[in-house]
Amino acid sequence: MLSTKDIDRKIEIAHNAFTEWKNQSYQDRQKLLSKAAKILKENADKYGKIITKEMNKPIAQSIAEVEKCALMMDFYANAENVLKPEKVKINYNISEIHYTPMGVILGVMPWNYPFWQALRFAVPAILAGNTVVLKHASICFGSGNEIEKILLEAGFPEGVFQNLEIGHEAVEHILENIYVQGVSLTGSEPAGASVASIAAKNIKKSVLELGGSDAFIVLEDADLEDAAKVGALARLQNGGQTCIAAKRFIIHEKAEKDFLPKFIEEYKKYIPDDPMKKETKIAGMAREDLADDLEKQYDFALKNGAEVILPLKRISAIEFQPGIIKVNPGNPILNEELFGPLAMVLIGKNDEDCLKIANSTKFGLGNSLWTKNTEKALLLADRLESGAVAINQMLSSMPEMPFGGAKHSGYGTELSLMTLHEFTIPKSIVGNF
Ligand code: NAP
Repeated sequence: MLSTKDIDRKIEIAHNAFTEWKNQSYQDRQKLLSKAAKILKENADKYGKIITKEMNKPIAQSIAEVEKCALMMDFYANAENVLKPEKVKINYNISEIHYTPMGVILGVMPWNYPFWQALRFAVPAILAGNTVVLKHASICFGSGNEIEKILLEAGFPEGVFQNLEIGHEAVEHILENIYVQGVSLTGSEPAGASVASIAAKNIKKSVLELGGSDAFIVLEDADLEDAAKVGALARLQNGGQTCIAAKRFIIHEKAEKDFLPKFIEEYKKYIPDDPMKKETKIAGMAREDLADDLEKQYDFALKNGAEVILPLKRISAIEFQPGIIKVNPGNPILNEELFGPLAMVLIGKNDEDCLKIANSTKFGLGNSLWTKNTEKALLLADRLESGAVAINQMLSSMPEMPFGGAKHSGYGTELSLMTLHEFTIPKSIVGNF
C-alpha cells in the first residue's frame, strides 16, 4: 500500500502531466487511444487471465470484457470532437464556449469488471484533457497496474494515468489535494454516498455509478422461449455480479404458467465450474464474504415470506448452484441489491401493475421489457424510472449510448459523446475589438 507521502507525490506527477497533456490536440490524444486499443485486442487472452485470476469471472467472459474495452477505445479514437470551441451568435465580435479540462480526476472502481469499469471512466476523462489517478478495488490492483502499462506502451505520457495501490480510507486524503478536481465512483450505494459527501465537502465534482435492482418484465404477448433464455443469462452472466443484471423478474400473471418452467430449465444449465475452462458459464463469486452476504440475503428473504422456486445451494466457499425465489411486494429484501446468482420473481396482475412493481424500488439503473407490441413497449419504456430500457433483449452498455442511473443508482453520465463533458468546464469567452 502506498504511504500518504507516495500518494502526494503521484498526484503531483499527475498534475505536472496535466499541464502538458491539456495542450495536446484532441486528434493526437485519439491516435494514442487507437494504439492502446490495438494492444488490448492483440493481448485479450493475457489480460483475460488476469481478470479471471483476480475475481473468478469465466475466462470467455473475461476475454470478451477486454475486447469490449478495445471496441470502446476505438469508438473514442474515432469520435467527433464535441469539445471543440462553439461559436454563439450574440452581440460581441467574439463569443465562444471553450471546454477546458479540469485537472487530475480520481476514479474509484469496483472489482466486477476490472478492465471495463476502470477504462470506461478513464478513457473519456483523458481524451477530454484530464489526467487520472485510479483507486481500484483492493482485489484488482493487478488489472490497475496492467492498464497503466498498456497506456504507457501506447505512448501516453507518464502521469496521464496512474494506478494507486491504496485502501479506500485514502480516498478522503486524495480529495483534499488541491490538484484533484473531481471523482468518479462506480460501486455500491454506501461507498458512493460516502465519497460524494467527501467530494462535496471539498467542493469537487462527483459522478456516481451505483447499484441496481433491474426489472426484467415479461408481458403476456412476449416471446417466452427467448425471454427465458435471455433472462437466465441476464441474471447469471458474470456470476450474477453485474450492476445491470436482471434481478427482479416481473411476470404478467397470464404468462407465469408458461414462462416459469422454461426459465427454470434455462437457469439449470448454469452449473458452477472452473473459471479457466473456455466453456464455463458460471464460476464462484469474487470473494467468500460476498457469498456469505448473498446467503444471508436469501435467508432474510425466506424469513419474510419468499417462496423457493429453485433453492440457492452453496457448494463451496464461493460457489452456488443458482437460486430463484418468488417474492411478494412488501418483502424487505426488495430494498436490497442481490449481487450474485439469485433471482426474484414477482407476479403482476396486468401491464400497469407490472410497471408499478418495476418502479417500486429506490434503484433506477435499467430495465428489460418483453412484448411484441412496439407501441406499448415504447410507451412503457418512457414510464420506467431508469437510465436505460432494453426491449426484447438483455440490458448491456455500449460505447455509443449514454450510461447512468436514476434515483439511488447514481448521477452523471458515462459512455457516448456526452460523457466527454463530465470533467470539463464550459468557459464563456466574449469580447469586442
Ligand atoms: P464497493 O464495495 O462499493 O467498492 C467499489 C469501490 O469503492 C472499491 O474501489 C472500494 O474499495 C471503494 N470503496 C468502498 N467503500 C468505500 C468508502 N467508504 N469510501 C471510499 N471508497 C470506498 O462495491 P463493489 O463490491 O466493488 O462492487 C459492487 C457494486 O458496484 C454493486 O453495488 C454494483 O451494482 C455496483 N456497480 C455499479 C455499476 C454501474 O455502472 N452503475 C457498475 C459496476 C458495479 P475497496 O475495495 O478498497 O473497499
